[in-house]
Amino acid sequence: MPNSLASSNPSSSRRSSVVLARASLFKFVGLLAGVFLLASYSLVYLAHDLDRTEEAESAFYTKKAVQSLEKSLRSTVKDYAFWGDAYKHLHTEVDPDWAFVRQNVGPTLYTDFGVQGLFVINDVDRTVYSVVKGELKSVEVTEWLKQSIAGILDKARAGAETETPTTAFINVGGVPALVAAAAITPGTDPTVVPDDGPPSVLVFVDVLNSAKLQMIGDDFGVDRLHVATSGETGTASLLPLGDDGSAGSLQWSPERPGLRLLGIGLPLIGIAALLVCLMTWVILRRTTAGALALDASYASLQSSQDALATSEARFRDVVEASSDWVWEIDPEWHFTYLSERFEGVTGLSRDVWIGAVIDDLLSTELGTLAQWLSIPNRRPDISIQCRYVDTEGQERITRLSARKMAGGGFRGTATDVTEEVEARRRIEFLSQHDALTGLPNRTRLQEFLDGKLKALPTIDQPLVMLSLDLDRFKPVNDLLGHAAGDLVLNEVSSRLADCVRHGDLVARVGGDEFVLILTDVSSQEEVETLCRRLIESVEQPITIDEQEVFVSASVGIAMAPHDACEATELLRYADIALYEAKAGGRNTWRFYAGDMNARIIERRQLESDLRFAIKHGELRLHFQPRFRIADGQMVGAEALVRWQHPERGLIPPDTFIPIAEESGLILSLSNWVLDTACRCAARWPESLFVSVNLSPTEFKQGNLVERIQKTLTDSGINPARVELEITESVMLEDATGAIEVMRTLKRLGVRISMDDFGTGYSSLSYLRAFPFDGLKIDRSFLNRLADSEDDKAIIRAIVGLGRALSLTVTAEGIETADHLKLLKAVSCDEGQGYFLSRPLDIGAFNELIGLFEEAR
Ligand code: C2E
Ligand code: CA
Ligand code: CA
Repeated sequence: MPNSLASSNPSSSRRSSVVLARASLFKFVGLLAGVFLLASYSLVYLAHDLDRTEEAESAFYTKKAVQSLEKSLRSTVKDYAFWGDAYKHLHTEVDPDWAFVRQNVGPTLYTDFGVQGLFVINDVDRTVYSVVKGELKSVEVTEWLKQSIAGILDKARAGAETETPTTAFINVGGVPALVAAAAITPGTDPTVVPDDGPPSVLVFVDVLNSAKLQMIGDDFGVDRLHVATSGETGTASLLPLGDDGSAGSLQWSPERPGLRLLGIGLPLIGIAALLVCLMTWVILRRTTAGALALDASYASLQSSQDALATSEARFRDVVEASSDWVWEIDPEWHFTYLSERFEGVTGLSRDVWIGAVIDDLLSTELGTLAQWLSIPNRRPDISIQCRYVDTEGQERITRLSARKMAGGGFRGTATDVTEEVEARRRIEFLSQHDALTGLPNRTRLQEFLDGKLKALPTIDQPLVMLSLDLDRFKPVNDLLGHAAGDLVLNEVSSRLADCVRHGDLVARVGGDEFVLILTDVSSQEEVETLCRRLIESVEQPITIDEQEVFVSASVGIAMAPHDACEATELLRYADIALYEAKAGGRNTWRFYAGDMNARIIERRQLESDLRFAIKHGELRLHFQPRFRIADGQMVGAEALVRWQHPERGLIPPDTFIPIAEESGLILSLSNWVLDTACRCAARWPESLFVSVNLSPTEFKQGNLVERIQKTLTDSGINPARVELEITESVMLEDATGAIEVMRTLKRLGVRISMDDFGTGYSSLSYLRAFPFDGLKIDRSFLNRLADSEDDKAIIRAIVGLGRALSLTVTAEGIETADHLKLLKAVSCDEGQGYFLSRPLDIGAFNELIGLFEEAR
């Protein structure tokens, strides 16, 4: 059955044969190498041993040679000394003629025995006869030997009785010499009668010069026997002569049969090893070739039972070792085979599934597997992703590959790719979604938008894009920390997602900016309803740590194809609409309109005009008087800026203050206002104060205090006559910073009042915590009031609160007598409004002051 597997992977079996052959060969070579090593070691050991033996032997022979030399000289001296004739001719009287001329004890001793010195020393230790190197000389023995030999003579005389000669090694001028001495006695000669005195002594001296040593060395087979020089002492082949080597030492070169052996043996072993290596290489090549040939024939013999069994086993191993499972189906799509791994991977039972139709187990997104497998000319190397449900009810993903079998049906493998697909999906999700809120990010938005725009939206079924931005989100972040900010963003995100239908998209594209894409809203009313719902939903309080946080949203709307059909244009238009919505007072929405773009351009123009205006004196300051309600007395005036535009006429501050704030022109504008207001007011009666509006952005710049200080000094006005009006947003944006700045301002002596109370949070905690002197109730607040009792109650409550906190309460926007009456009724401190006086230019205001002064 698994022929295809065996043939599909022949290289593996081939490789294994070769590897096997190589392995055994390498083992053999390893063994041989061991043998060679052992042989080499044995050889070295043997050689060393041989050398040691030889050394010992040569030492022995050297000793023997010396001993034999000693023995021979001793016996020679004995022969001559214990001799009656010698006694007569060398002791009783000295007869050179007998001794030398007739050669009885003469030159022959030198020529035949090599005795270099021959001396006869008489009973009083005088040399009486001497033959040196075969010549008769008259020389004292001590003179020739350059030393006394008294000890030797004594010993020789002591041995007279027993006829024992003596020998000794001495050193003569650096050369060892053997001295043999014997007392001259009559020996066994009965004709000679010995005298009573001490005997004469016959002394033979054999100097061991190199020739002599060479000779005895040759006799005993000792090589290069010579006298050791001082550098050579201490080596093994050394024989000391005399007492502790006082006569010098002999040295020789023992033969090194071991070294010779090594010289021959090691190269032989090396050559043998080389031959073996060469043979191994040849065999290895032959084996590889053989194994390859074997495997080739193996493949051709696949039909044989043996090969089949092997490859089947191999197939089983491969199948069960891999993490994939193997399947086979018959032409009717029924499983006929499932490998054991099937159970391990899927948890499903083979018994249950064998016989079942493959499509009952596996489903694909491209129709049934039967369809896929039936595709004509389907490439067998392309796999298909399938799903099935495992025993735990979890959906798993598997990658299926299939080949057609010869007898019909298919077989293939299935790889579990669930984790891989999951991971890929996760990465894809992360790359397309915002990590904090889990909402789609800009990338996903772009993709989604492109897809939707490709579907070509129509006027009847438009694509609606909402650009949504949170209002008052920054203070939340600043006041409560980023963790709270994150919570708010998460909450808002889920609220937004809840407001749209399935198939729409809510993306987070910036800190507190979102984009919504809707395709199911068709009419403008529907869009507006949705925007209202979105804003209302965002405005619901968000509870963080038992604290309620309020944010709101502004929405800009752009539609395709009405406004644009391109993604980038749509996004830009929605942003422009959003900008308009924010400018329009926030918490609201705006549809993009063609003129918005023009308005933005106009705004830019206005900005550059304003820059010019500030520098060229186009700003004007009006003053709106403030009155004490109780008695109608004027107490001061609020400075309100205007712009005398050369073409547009007098422009109200609401139009250009936001532009000044955004462009950074606010500082120079405000400086002008402060300066002008203080300089004017300095000329007013002492009882009148001037009130100046400060923009929240001025608080963020570090130099506010210095600027005020400078203005006060420059104008010379009493700081107590200056009031600064600030709005709640100052505190919302940076409470700790604001309180710091306010305290320093207060130290300068100026008053501070909270403007527009009743429009923002109107948080009472701010009033309590910040050093305010006054509170201005916003004019919208007063306008909202109908003539009901409830409203009166509210106004009364605010006034009461102000009083409790020692704040001067001022009502703004008094437009009617009724308003005034109401405020009087609740004892509001001060008031300002058109009913009392409109803001007046400086001339008109000065006139009013004149009237006011007259009236006093
Ligand atoms: P605000 O501080 O609330 O100033 C009062 C505004 O209410 C003034 O508008 C004033 O003309 C108007 N007003 C006074 N009485 C009545 C009334 O009875 N009915 C109605 N409907 N309105 C009344 P104005 O002068 O247009 O100023 C608008 C805003 O511009 C001011 O509101 C203030 O926030 C800002 N502003 C004006 N001048 C300056 C300035 O020099 N610096 C800064 N930073 N802001 C300024
Ligand atoms: Ca004001
Ligand atoms: Ca106000």
